[in-house]
Amino acid sequence: MATDDHTLLIATTNPGKLREVRSILEGLSVRLTGLKDYPHLPEAVEDADTFEGNARRKALHYAKLTGCWTLADDSGLEVDVLGGAPGVHSARYAGEIRNDAANNAKLIQELAGVEPGERKARFRCTMALANPTGILATASGVLEGLIVDEARGCNGFGYDPHFFVPQYGMTTAEMPAEQKNRISHRSRALAAIRGRIEELIAR
Ligand code: IMP
Repeated sequence: MATDDHTLLIATTNPGKLREVRSILEGLSVRLTGLKDYPHLPEAVEDADTFEGNARRKALHYAKLTGCWTLADDSGLEVDVLGGAPGVHSARYAGEIRNDAANNAKLIQELAGVEPGERKARFRCTMALANPTGILATASGVLEGLIVDEARGCNGFGYDPHFFVPQYGMTTAEMPAEQKNRISHRSRALAAIRGRIEELIAR
């Protein structure tokens, strides 16, 4: 299957993300490992202008450095009335230092005076799978919602307190983790790429 047989590197240092990936990829005959097992690698540069571009860069970067097949993701929030912003700048929307509270304050300020019906938004995630010689597969997932002024809920992270999902009548910060993980942009992208990984392993 791979250069370093049967090892799939998940390009994250975030233990929560690694747990989520493990649960969705359960049953695949690969050993999953994370970037914590490779502490001295230089970080990937994520300066593409699309989620897919960044996910591809990240996957290829770590696959080349480690010799392992590598799965990388990039994600963020797109707000229609803001022309898709914050988009690939979601983590640092309000400034160079990652700050969820400042990002949310800026988002709400940018939407001042915008009617509830005009606040359509989505979380988007793109996954890319690479081996040391190139990209093998990509897949995306989205979760549609609306941006609300009032912060609701304490779960999750990032823009969750302001991301309202009409179908469930709550923000993603009000959902228990298991519920959000079932419907999230990340889990949808992962579920889609799982099929491709299975096909590639079977070859
Ligand atoms: P990353 O790709 O996981 O680094 O996410 C980039 C940024 O997008 C995060 O710092 C958050 O601001 C935002 N984001 C991505 N996914 C979510 C989510 O599930 N909830 C809230 N914010 C998110």
